[in-house]
Amino acid sequence: MPRLYLASNNAHKVAELGAMLATLDPPWQVASAKELSPEISWIENGDTFLANAKIKADALRRLTHDCVLADDSGLVVDILDGAPGVYSSRYSGLEGDDTANNQKLLQAIAGRRAADLTARFVCTLYFVDEQGVGREFVGTLEGRLTHHPAGQHGFGYDPLFVPDCPPPGYEGRTLAEMPASVKNAISHRAAAFKAWRQWLETR
Ligand code: IMP
Repeated sequence: MPRLYLASNNAHKVAELGAMLATLDPPWQVASAKELSPEISWIENGDTFLANAKIKADALRRLTHDCVLADDSGLVVDILDGAPGVYSSRYSGLEGDDTANNQKLLQAIAGRRAADLTARFVCTLYFVDEQGVGREFVGTLEGRLTHHPAGQHGFGYDPLFVPDCPPPGYEGRTLAEMPASVKNAISHRAAAFKAWRQWLETR
């Protein structure tokens, strides 16, 4: 069974990708970065999602010759000139503080008309194979921000994001109001994963 390490220290992303990877047939043996090395860390100072995904993948590839799949993702808001973008996890200044990040985003869009709140989630997956060759797979999810956070599922900016094309029964709902199985069917991460999976099937 091929072995794959996930280059992310975000437990939510590892859970979402883990659920998708569990559907692979034939199966892969999947492990997290922490399982490879509990102390592993990296400095995400790239200007793009791809640059940051490569930084994560490289950190793991220094420790293993098994395959690596890195996820770098974030929220791009049009009226904020693309912010928070690559700074999504530390928009408020506090790394990984979803509550503070959402608070700052709500302040940044305060008073703006609903029609002006177009945004998208972007996910860049960077896969490095056993030979060390890397490839990029990108997925996006278009939607709009809401001034009224709602929902308890998911993570990050999910309570503020209403997808443009939700599954039936979830019209006008935020991503955080959708159970994991529903989010995982439409998300930016799912779209990038699907592109990777299609490539895998042809290699
Ligand atoms: P990264 O781990 O440096 O790629 O940062 C990703 C950040 O983007 C997260 O901390 C969230 O703030 C945001 N983000 C990425 N994907 C999602 C998602 O699926 N839902 C909500 N927020 C997300």
